[in-house]
Amino acid sequence: MCPHPPPVACRWDGSPLGSRRHRSLRVSANSPSRLLRTGQTSRCRACGNRIEWYQRDNHRPVSLHPYEVATSTVPASCRWHLSGGIAYRHGDGSTWCRIPHAVLCPSRRTPTTRLTPRLAEARRQLAVRTRTLIDAGLFTPAAPASPHPPPQASTACAITRPVVQFLYTRYLAAHPLEAIRCVAQTRTRYRCPRPVLDTAAPTGTWTLRPAGPVHGQLALPDGLMALYDLTHLPYAEQLRWRAQRCTAHAGALGAADLALTQWQTFDPLIHHSHIRPRLPGAAPNGGCGARP
Ligand SMILES: [Zn+2]
Ligand SMILES: [Zn+2]
Repeated sequence: MCPHPPPVACRWDGSPLGSRRHRSLRVSANSPSRLLRTGQTSRCRACGNRIEWYQRDNHRPVSLHPYEVATSTVPASCRWHLSGGIAYRHGDGSTWCRIPHAVLCPSRRTPTTRLTPRLAEARRQLAVRTRTLIDAGLFTPAAPASPHPPPQASTACAITRPVVQFLYTRYLAAHPLEAIRCVAQTRTRYRCPRPVLDTAAPTGTWTLRPAGPVHGQLALPDGLMALYDLTHLPYAEQLRWRAQRCTAHAGALGAADLALTQWQTFDPLIHHSHIRPRLPGAAPNGGCGARP
């Protein structure tokens, strides 16, 4: 009698020999969002409750309540839905929808919208959780931001939040140029530590441009402002800045994003405190000249 040989190599107990090959995580090339859900949960700085960050169709972030809510209990203006990792501000016809955390945030004295009894109860539960966290010493509410922040003293006239122009749009950066960090995920599953600014790649130029108007007829502050201009760079390079990726991850279509990009569309009225009328390093006779 001839025993049948095992079909594949295996151990004495029948388990397959050799380990399975691990598949690396990849993002579809036509995915509207490259942002991994891992690491996008956070806590509201005002109330300490859990929130989930999503990207909107205009690339701006929005924090949503982490659970779905019955659509019938949510006012039409507060209904959001997710599609392809992007948050859209309307319902999708289903019986469940998402809702912005701001609608339920108990740190606000008055809700931003008229709440239904079901949402008012959810807001009350969040308020109880906030109180529990505070009593347990696990949460300290963030101090409300001052509408008139003190001017930042700097002897080197470093621009802490530069205005950067690319793709014919001005953006306000969240950090100094050298500190704008790549958002891509590395092979070790951590966020890439490299900066977007790479001196080996084509760089932008600091220039003085009129601060306004950029919104047509609005009366905006005139005068010159310093901005980091990238519009003369190749289109692909400007896209790399828009995607907030280092040169190593510029063309890595399979690499997902671990963080949202932090560009804010620059508005001279809203961001007037970040307008600098002098180029970095040029500070004759006292200070960088930030607008009051
Ligand atoms: Zn909150
Ligand atoms: Zn990178």
